[in-house]
Amino acid sequence: MATKRDYYEVLGVSKNAASDEIKKAYRKVAMQYHPDRNPGDKSAEEKFKEAAEAYEVLSDTEKKKRYDQYGHAGMSGNAGFGGGAGGMRMEDIFTNFGDIFGDMQGSPFEAFFGGRGTRERTRGVRGGNLRIKVPLTLQEIAKGAHKSLKVKKYVPCETCSGSGAKDKTSFHTCTACKGSGVIRRVQNTVLGQMSTTTTCPTCNGEGQVITAKCNTCHGEGRVYGEDTIQVDIPAGVAEGMQLSMSGKGNAGERAGSPGDLIIAIEEEDHGDLKRDGNNVAYELYISFIDASLGTGIEVPTIEGKARIKIKPGTQAGEIFRLKGKGLPNVNAYGSGDQLIHVNVWVPKELNNEERNLLEKLRDSHNFQPNPGKNEKNFFEKMRDYFA
Ligand SMILES: [Zn+2]
Ligand SMILES: [Zn+2]
Repeated sequence: MATKRDYYEVLGVSKNAASDEIKKAYRKVAMQYHPDRNPGDKSAEEKFKEAAEAYEVLSDTEKKKRYDQYGHAGMSGNAGFGGGAGGMRMEDIFTNFGDIFGDMQGSPFEAFFGGRGTRERTRGVRGGNLRIKVPLTLQEIAKGAHKSLKVKKYVPCETCSGSGAKDKTSFHTCTACKGSGVIRRVQNTVLGQMSTTTTCPTCNGEGQVITAKCNTCHGEGRVYGEDTIQVDIPAGVAEGMQLSMSGKGNAGERAGSPGDLIIAIEEEDHGDLKRDGNNVAYELYISFIDASLGTGIEVPTIEGKARIKIKPGTQAGEIFRLKGKGLPNVNAYGSGDQLIHVNVWVPKELNNEERNLLEKLRDSHNFQPNPGKNEKNFFEKMRDYFA
């Protein structure tokens, strides 16, 4: 996997840049590396795509939040996921230009690029994105998981190979646009003659019209069905993270490009262990006798049981740390820890014999609370920590 540049760096803005500033920066970079200005220049094209991808994320509040939190791992193009650098299709980039440069109609930019056939003949209609929830256990999150997902969605019609037409002869070139898919208009403006293009309304930009429809899909080029999709989910993901698989969503109409599949991560409750970032916490209950005498005890961890030693004189509120027994960081090396919070259990009911034994102990000097300076500091810190 090629390393990706930081999106803020790509656009040359700071992390707290306002949305206006981000938009302006993207316009600047997009104009600089636009393919019309750099014909045949592959590195310019890559930079152009890179900027579009950065803008797509940073202009979307939700995606930006996720990127700020998880970096590239929170985005599409993760290990095992489709897309990635240059994963954006040129046609999508140009389609989005409508939003970016839409308020610059008649500007020099429009004059530069407006006449270009950016809205070239499109095929069909792009399929919609699909979103599915994938529940994961803590064990799966710790190790990463391979999932085989059954997804109900539109799939290309096999009868017509997605074209929507009955056979090869069931197409006619669109007469309105003569097959180009666009209607071109030349206007005189203060900046000189400018040509503008719009998508042909007769054929929806496809350049041809279907005269006889496929009987299976009734001309749509797709049918509702099921697909099995293999996904590798990286270790360390968290509830609320979304991973997008480019082109794995609904099939497009009449061979249009497919939508994306968005995988929303859900964490299943473990029961014993609670996640806290990359750490997991466990509430351990021991009797005051075990706390006084010390003992060995088994505790659950993500990967099964571990034995820990309770030293004599262990106090309630102490925390044991099992190094590296937490969850891996999704973005970097290293793992979190398991934290074991010690709770000392006091019996709620006593029989006569137990009561007698405890009463004998009550007067013992050692059973009277007598915390030294260190213990007092410790418990004050604990109180602040849990406050
Ligand atoms: Zn069909
Ligand atoms: Zn047409």
